[in-house]
Amino acid sequence: MTTRYPLLFEPLDLGHTTLRNRIVMGSMHTGLEDMPWDIDKLAAYFGARAKGGVGLIITGGYSPNITGWLLPAGAKMSSPIDALLHRRVTSAVHAEGGKIAMQLLHAGRYAYHPLSASASSIKAPINPFKPRKMPDLEIRKTIRDFGNAARTAQRAGYDGVEVMGGEGYLINQFLAPRTNKRTDKWGGSADNRHRFPVEIVKEIRKRCGDDFIVVFRLSMADFVDEGQTRDEIISLALKLEAAGVSILNTDIGWHEARVPTIVTSVPRAAFAAFTADVTRAVSIPVCAANRINMPETAEELLDRGDAQLVQIARPLLADPEWANKARDERVDEINTCIACNQACLDHAFVHKKVSCLVNPRAGRETSLVLGPTRSAKRVAVVGAGPAGLSTAVSAAERGHHVELFEAGECIGGQFTYAAKIPGKEEFNETLRYFSTMLDRNNVTVHLGRTAGVDDLREFDEVVIATGVVPRVPSIPGVDHPKVITYAQAVSGQRPIGDSVAILGAGGIGFDVAEFVTTEKSPTLHLDEWNAEWGVTRDAHTRGFVTKPQPAPSPRTVYMLQRKATPQGIGLGKTTGWVHRASVKMKGVEQLRGVNYERIDDDGLHITFGEEHKDPRVLDVETVILCTGQESERSLDEALRAAGVQTHVIGGADVAAELDAKRAIRQGTELAAAL
Ligand code: FAD
Ligand code: NAP
Ligand code: SF4
Repeated sequence: MTTRYPLLFEPLDLGHTTLRNRIVMGSMHTGLEDMPWDIDKLAAYFGARAKGGVGLIITGGYSPNITGWLLPAGAKMSSPIDALLHRRVTSAVHAEGGKIAMQLLHAGRYAYHPLSASASSIKAPINPFKPRKMPDLEIRKTIRDFGNAARTAQRAGYDGVEVMGGEGYLINQFLAPRTNKRTDKWGGSADNRHRFPVEIVKEIRKRCGDDFIVVFRLSMADFVDEGQTRDEIISLALKLEAAGVSILNTDIGWHEARVPTIVTSVPRAAFAAFTADVTRAVSIPVCAANRINMPETAEELLDRGDAQLVQIARPLLADPEWANKARDERVDEINTCIACNQACLDHAFVHKKVSCLVNPRAGRETSLVLGPTRSAKRVAVVGAGPAGLSTAVSAAERGHHVELFEAGECIGGQFTYAAKIPGKEEFNETLRYFSTMLDRNNVTVHLGRTAGVDDLREFDEVVIATGVVPRVPSIPGVDHPKVITYAQAVSGQRPIGDSVAILGAGGIGFDVAEFVTTEKSPTLHLDEWNAEWGVTRDAHTRGFVTKPQPAPSPRTVYMLQRKATPQGIGLGKTTGWVHRASVKMKGVEQLRGVNYERIDDDGLHITFGEEHKDPRVLDVETVILCTGQESERSLDEALRAAGVQTHVIGGADVAAELDAKRAIRQGTELAAAL
């Protein structure tokens, strides 16, 4: 086969069956698993990924019994009815030439209900429910339940199962001294702690025979105190191989770990070296994972021999056709996952259906359809921010004749500022994707062109995606030369002094704090990133965590807000803690409950609370406004006055709580309806 990625597209012979390439779709809980009536949506979702060319799909987690449910009445796989329903999923995947394994996940002490049970009765720091200690009888029964679930999955047509042995779930709880304080044959020595997963694998092999794929998701670095050592992990890997595992998959970090493992600021393939240690020790195929979002990264690590397969998960939400585009040398058409977590994990954690910021069709394959139009129209889109870009590309894909007007010299709108923040370099991939797709779909793009009423009269449809402008609050002295907007700061339009006050502590305030406290983006330098988050490769350090050593900030920085609540509580569920930890590590002084009294040559004058007490002057050279945005709607008002009908989307529609997720979703939905 002629491809730029020969290793990625080499079939993998597992003896009884062959995977068509080395691309494994990693397990993601989408919310569609939990409701039997959503099974056809689940089948369509997996069918689209199989059609997109992925080699092996792994489903979201299904518990082998009710104790292991993540949530009350969560997804489980134990009865003939479960098997019957899942025939629709496996048939949809097989019809597209793909293979699919069901993940079996027992939540242990991460179970969010009172039935939870674990190796020992030790509460997880992220869960209010304290688990019971499992008696010996229950451990044996749980092993049989895993066997039964695997057999049920096999009857449903699954090609295999993945046993979840990482992320701090039940099996991982048995493996680490942190959570396993038992003194019987299931605890104490490493051999005893290994017994539970090894018995599970043997039971699955006994129930399902040899012609069945058994993947084991192995925690290659726990990133918690009293986690496993390298020797223990390798010794377990060898025992799992002997027990009949077909593929070892990588898992990195427990849910309660304080090391980021998948957010956008984690360098690409950051943990491949941990996987490589195991790959060198065993003779079965090993799969690498975490922050592998582009084919180059995947091919490089296969070429180094770090692993024989790569797992990509969120990138397949972002682009179901990832594999085919990589194979067919259409890499610039890949809609790259930017690891923002905003529509996937952040949704999963609040029990909302999972989708994707850059691809709102993910999980909505049957309801948000971009089919060819029956009457091609002339469509004008004004504004090339995320809202306008998604409308223009989706409408053109449907066959409309689209012209895109952008006042600036490049596409992207506010998103271009996001891409300049250290640790958010991935956001450039979205701009590359849109740029490619505008070209492929023959959209006429007018850059540096502020559209007016006369430009738009002749179009059948006019879409106003003129976005937002930074809000300038009415503070005495806000026109002082030391005051600049976040846009002026991040674009480099205005210089930033050595001492800075950031007004506003929303998403943009935190990003600007990162911008002014960082000289060199750690995302691009793995050693520095490891030092910053306290990751060590020392084989004898349990859990591979040590004291963080962040690079010092080159500036003195204050971040302020008027609200009395802690800063950053509104940030993303799964990413906010990383931003909060980062500004703390950089020594940013965070002030809340603040009144902005005035700005003058002496600096920023503030007081606190309703009584305006404790006056203080922050002697800063620069004040950066991150105080929200306002809609830019002047063009829309002029068009309406001239009798031209419009569709208003994104920030031009509503500025409050605007993010790129809403902007892209609104743009795509509008294009589907045009
Ligand atoms: P905009 O991005 O504002 O685009 C509007 C465009 O219209 C502009 O390019 C403007 O030049 C053009 N325009 C206006 N009037 C005219 C006219 N008359 N003619 C032609 N063109 C015109 N969101 C997230 O979801 N996640 C993040 O992590 C994130 N990080 C961010 C970090 C920073 C530093 C910033 C500033 C923003 C961030 N955002 C993030 C917010 C996100 O970028 C915005 O929500 C999004 O860009 C809004 O999209 P939009 O298309 O509605 O408007
Ligand atoms: P934001 O989260 O609404 O924050 C605005 C900040 O400005 C608040 O801290 C607010 O705090 C302050 N403020 C509002 N009005 C003010 C006024 N009149 N005077 C003084 N201060 C005022 O919005 P944002 O930070 O501008 O971000 C915009 C959007 O981009 C967000 O909705 C977010 O979703 C998105 N974004 C997301 C990320 C991410 O990582 N996911 C990152 C960046 C941006 P007080 O009112 O308490 O002072
Ligand atoms: Fe990736 Fe963000 Fe989409 Fe999740 S929402 S799949 S992290 S781009």
